Amino acid sequence: MSSEKPNPFEVAQKQLEDCAKIINLNANVYRILRVPMREIHVSLPLRMDDGSIQVFKGFRVQYNDTLGPTKGGIRFHPDETIDTVRALAAWMTWKCSLVDLPLGGAKGGVICNPKEMSLGELERLSRAYIDAIWQFIGPDKDIPAPDVYTDAQIMVWMMDEYSKFLGKNQFGVITGKPPILGGSAGRDDATARGGMYTIREAAKEFATDLKKATYAIQGYGNAGYNAARLIKTFFGGKIIAVSDSKGGILSKEGLDPKKVLEHKNKTRSVINFPNTEMISNEDLLELEVDVLLPSALENVITEKNAKNIKAKIVAELANGPTTPEADDVLYKNGIHVIPDFLCNAGGVTVSYFEMVQNLYMYYWDEKEVHERLNKKMTTAYHSVLDTSKEYNINMRQAAYVVAVRRVAEAMKLRGRVHS
Ligand code: GLU
Repeated sequence: MSSEKPNPFEVAQKQLEDCAKIINLNANVYRILRVPMREIHVSLPLRMDDGSIQVFKGFRVQYNDTLGPTKGGIRFHPDETIDTVRALAAWMTWKCSLVDLPLGGAKGGVICNPKEMSLGELERLSRAYIDAIWQFIGPDKDIPAPDVYTDAQIMVWMMDEYSKFLGKNQFGVITGKPPILGGSAGRDDATARGGMYTIREAAKEFATDLKKATYAIQGYGNAGYNAARLIKTFFGGKIIAVSDSKGGILSKEGLDPKKVLEHKNKTRSVINFPNTEMISNEDLLELEVDVLLPSALENVITEKNAKNIKAKIVAELANGPTTPEADDVLYKNGIHVIPDFLCNAGGVTVSYFEMVQNLYMYYWDEKEVHERLNKKMTTAYHSVLDTSKEYNINMRQAAYVVAVRRVAEAMKLRGRVHS
């Protein structure tokens, strides 16, 4: 795994292998958990605005359903690969287990560049994806949600398309919808908010004064922007750098998250925000800050740059930002990593609340959602921290121990493995 770009699924398998050794996992359970339960590969012919037909590739990987129907987002990204989707589906399995949701793990993806597509093309692609996979999803089978470059509007198109096949409304087939169509209050910023609760707990443990702290955020999408906004309301402190796919900005005085967003919405990037210095995504990661929040894509902290990371806390709002080799270095250097499937579990947690409210046909207010989310995240953080102390292992290994154990126990109870 020393090649330029590690294969995310090899990373996920290596992490599981590590965990299997730590807990002496039953060999049969391990063999089952190393690979996805089901993969759906589809070709999506799409009528483009210019009248041509383009064929897009789509995937849905249902990794493991021992704990319940599978759950996980759908990405629209030009660099999507089946191995990325496999890894993300595995991480969803561990994520749902870790926060104790009655759900398994899945992930979907379509190889496309939404930034170059019109709204009409995006709508047709979203509907075509559901046309191709609708038989394999449903509120008690597999429930998609937003992820990188997909949003509430896309979720509504997908829900609407699925409902047509059923001949009736089925809001519960997908989460991350807007509140007017069965979405949950508090879903929009749930990933970042969940991360804030874990940072708050980590700071208590490591005596970090978050009011005086400095923060750097890689990525300014749903997770990154909401993290910036919530850092201000939760903790105060200074956000000294943020970035997006085009590059980053640095300001020693601190950035105003909303103004940066307005600039990004106008110019399509955070770069060139007034009174800031340009900084690359790579350099942003190596800044001397108290809290670093990788909030974009996989494999950004690797064996190459891990030794240069100077943050005290690394809060992984992205999925898979750190490779196993880098993990070892960070751990040796005493950096506290709040691992991805703990730190960013707030998104799927409120998705689960959304499913419950859809079934219930009764909707909670934002305060209730926040309280329930706080409880879930705080409990999960401490179960991971306690496990890391008990076994003397890093936080990611500890998160795996908690999550894999639950799935393994349930597999045994269900008779999927014997002994
Ligand atoms: N895509 C988000 C994640 O990676 C949310 C998944 C969901 O809500 O099902 O956790």
